[in-house]
Amino acid sequence: LVSRKWRVRPTVLDLGDGVRIGEGNLTLAAGPCSIESEQQMELIMQHLVDNDVRIMRGGVFKPRSSPYSFRGLGMEGLKLFHQMARERGIKIITEVMQVSQVEEMHDYVDVFQVGARNTQNFNLLDALGGVDKPVMIKRGISGTLEELLSSAEYVFSGGNEKLILCERGIRTFETASRNTLDLNAVPILKEKTHLPVIVDPSHGIGIREYVPTMALAGVMAGADGIIYEAHEKPEEAASDGAQTLNFQESERLIRNLRKVYAVR
Ligand code: PEP
Ligand code: MN
Repeated sequence: LVSRKWRVRPTVLDLGDGVRIGEGNLTLAAGPCSIESEQQMELIMQHLVDNDVRIMRGGVFKPRSSPYSFRGLGMEGLKLFHQMARERGIKIITEVMQVSQVEEMHDYVDVFQVGARNTQNFNLLDALGGVDKPVMIKRGISGTLEELLSSAEYVFSGGNEKLILCERGIRTFETASRNTLDLNAVPILKEKTHLPVIVDPSHGIGIREYVPTMALAGVMAGADGIIYEAHEKPEEAASDGAQTLNFQESERLIRNLRKVYAVR
C-alpha cells in the first residue's frame, strides 16, 4: 500500500491552516530535542513565527539511553505545548513511545512521531493505524529501508494513510559522527513509495557545525523537508545540545534551505 505500485501520485498531507507536507512543499520543522519549559517554548515559537516555520518539534516523552537522563515533561508539558502552539498558528510534532499514550496524546498533537527505537514496535504501529492524525516514522537505528517501509505498511494497512518517513541516520562502524546519515535513502524511498520523505540531519550526524550542510544535502537529494533541533541556548539544552542549532544558525539555515529548494 505504501508502494508506488499501489499509488503513483505522491501523497500530500494537509495539517490545516495552509500547512502541507509532501510534493511541492518544503516542510520545515524545528525545535528542541526536549520540551523544557514555558519560557523556552515562548522563545522558540517566536523564532519559528519570525521565520515562517509552521511546525515545531519537541519531545515530552524522551527515549534516553540512560535512565538517569532527563525524560521529558510528559502530558502536562504537552498540554501547554499544544495550547501555546495553537495561539501562534504552529503545528506540533512529538514522539509517542507506547500504545497507552496514543489516546491521551491524540487531541494535543498534529503529527505523532515514532522514534528510531520504536520503528519496529508493532503494537504501537497497529495502534497508530487506528488514529486520524499523521504519523512520522523514523528509520530504525539499524533498520533497513525495507524495514522502514514495512513499518509504514503496518500503519497504512491499519487504516491510517497519513504517513511521513524520516531518515535520521543509522548505526555504522563509523565513530566520527553520532550516526551515519544515509542520504541514499532519500532517492530510493522517493522511488519506492508515494509517501513524503523528511531528513533529520541533527540525529543524522550529531555535530552542530555540520547539521546545516547535511540539511541542505538532504534537500538536494530530494527530501520533502527537514526536521532539526534548535534551542535558544543549545549549550544548556536538557538533551542533544551538541547537535542543536542556536537561533542565528537556524535562521541562516532556513534561508538557505528555501533557496536550495527553489532551484533544485
Ligand atoms: C528525537 O527526535 O529527539 C529523537 C529521539 O529521535 P530518534 O528517535 O531519531 O533518535
Ligand atoms: Mn534529540
